[in-house]
Amino acid sequence: SKNAGRNCFHVYSPELKAEADQRNILEIELREAIWREEIEVFYQPVVELGTGRTKSVEALARWRHCTRGLIPPAEFIPVAEECGLIVELGNLVLAKACRHAMMMPDDIKVAVNLSALQLASGNLVDSVMYALADSGLAETRLELEITESVFLADSQENLKTLERLRRLGVSIALDDFGVGYSSLSYLTAFPFNKVKIDKSFIDRIGRSETVAVLGSIVQLAKTLNLSIVAEGVETYEQVEKVRLLGIALGQGYFFSKPVPFGELLLQGLAESER
Ligand code: C2E
Ligand code: CA
Ligand code: CA
Ligand code: CA
Repeated sequence: SKNAGRNCFHVYSPELKAEADQRNILEIELREAIWREEIEVFYQPVVELGTGRTKSVEALARWRHCTRGLIPPAEFIPVAEECGLIVELGNLVLAKACRHAMMMPDDIKVAVNLSALQLASGNLVDSVMYALADSGLAETRLELEITESVFLADSQENLKTLERLRRLGVSIALDDFGVGYSSLSYLTAFPFNKVKIDKSFIDRIGRSETVAVLGSIVQLAKTLNLSIVAEGVETYEQVEKVRLLGIALGQGYFFSKPVPFGELLLQGLAESER
């Protein structure tokens, strides 16, 4: 097996050699794609459940590959993180998202995902300031989504960086809440603006245990003055349950899949149509 090979004596098997070659090709192609700005940004609305209005859009990276078509982030973000391309890739997404946001109504925020490695890179604040200045986007229209992984390594430094970003006027959201090492204490570790409840909770929202856990998350979030988003909402039933729990915002296929910028405008986000 592959694992046995990694740990023992099959390291130079033709199969693993082929796998390593594939990986090297992917790295080279990814470097090239970032250079040519072939990483596209799709957008998915975050909707106010009470009114149906879009309050923000999340920027999600897609790689437009010349032969393989659209490659999802799960396939190239980990590669970018491993080969040190994530900072460049992240800056490209940030720059494109800020420029696109300038063409959206100004009551709509744009949320950009950050890798923990970008936060640890030491120049995230400069990159953010550059993207804002370059696009002309107001600081208050940018939201950055981080996961609790930033609390694992060098968390003091990371917290300082997040504080500097908040002082700029940028919002910070805690993403994928409820998975991994999740603990309610992360919510109090930093003055987040928003918490995004992971889809796995929404999938299990029919169970009373889930409703109980979500109830206490909602309570704490309200105490901390955080806005709450339910991620991965796919059905009307889920929307209703989420709403009953007091969660004001939802994001998911029920409202819209992530779409290219042009399509987002067609959905009625164009300034002229509001
Ligand atoms: P995420 O930040 O948790 O983003 C939400 C993911 O859930 C997106 O997958 C979105 O398409 C998907 N999703 C939204 N609503 C639904 C739904 O109702 N049902 C289902 N089944 N899925 C839904 P996507 O676009 O494939 O992105 C996957 C992950 O890749 C993201 O998870 C994020 O962690 C990462 N990612 C994407 N773009 C970037 C980026 O620019 N930088 C970094 N560092 N990570 C990124
Ligand atoms: Ca996210
Ligand atoms: Ca998420
Ligand atoms: Ca995720």
